[in-house]
Amino acid sequence: MAAEIRTFPCLSDNFGYLIHDGATGATASIDAPEAGPIIQALEREGWKLTDILVTHHHGDHVGGVAELKRKYGCRVVAPHDKTAKIADVDLRAANGDVVKVGNLLARVLETPGHTLDHVSYVFDAEKALFAADTLFSIGCGRVFEGNHPMMWESLLKLRALPDDFRLYCGHEYTAANVKFALSVEPDNPALKARAEEVTRLRADNKPTIPSLLGEEKKANVFLRADDPAVAARLHMKGAAAADVFGELRERKNKS
Ligand SMILES: [Zn+2]
Repeated sequence: MAAEIRTFPCLSDNFGYLIHDGATGATASIDAPEAGPIIQALEREGWKLTDILVTHHHGDHVGGVAELKRKYGCRVVAPHDKTAKIADVDLRAANGDVVKVGNLLARVLETPGHTLDHVSYVFDAEKALFAADTLFSIGCGRVFEGNHPMMWESLLKLRALPDDFRLYCGHEYTAANVKFALSVEPDNPALKARAEEVTRLRADNKPTIPSLLGEEKKANVFLRADDPAVAARLHMKGAAAADVFGELRERKNKS
């Protein structure tokens, strides 16, 4: 029985995600921005929460953990966090660990940069990448705790995943990301196609997620900082990819 994934809005622009293993009944929430919409989604489906897979310590990703754990007695999996900002953790996940959700397997990739503790969860059999605030559709997370080379390395780890994997990211930021990306690459055909799709989806009040990783590799300028054409657009011919990435990130911060 194939896994089922549900996507729904939380807070102002976060995504809530449930992944359900029909064979065992196990259900994981990827992060817990707030309890209410997650409980509603579970009740709508008749599912019981067994696990929360936390990607990083920011409040808009862990705000609902305590209430959900009280209600369901679920297991909380979270990255190693030296500052112990994440409470109620049952299992600490490090790079390469495989976390079981029923019969589903989530591979842990450490993807620091946005925060130092940030991890992404890869369900290889389901071809699903939960990248939270590391990789957005047509964008990437702000670099709060790490540095640009660290974030670029994290993006390379995600870019190495197969093209037919689907990206489930932490926020509905795609329209703003598209606007910025077009300012750098107005003639990128994959980006222009994605821009039209995003306009259509948002006009219908539909989420722009998931997106195909193969499409992101073509349309997302933050995944192509090592493309000489991108360096040339920024007048940075011959510069190191991490520096090109840093320039892109700085420009986006100011946009
Ligand atoms: Zn965050």
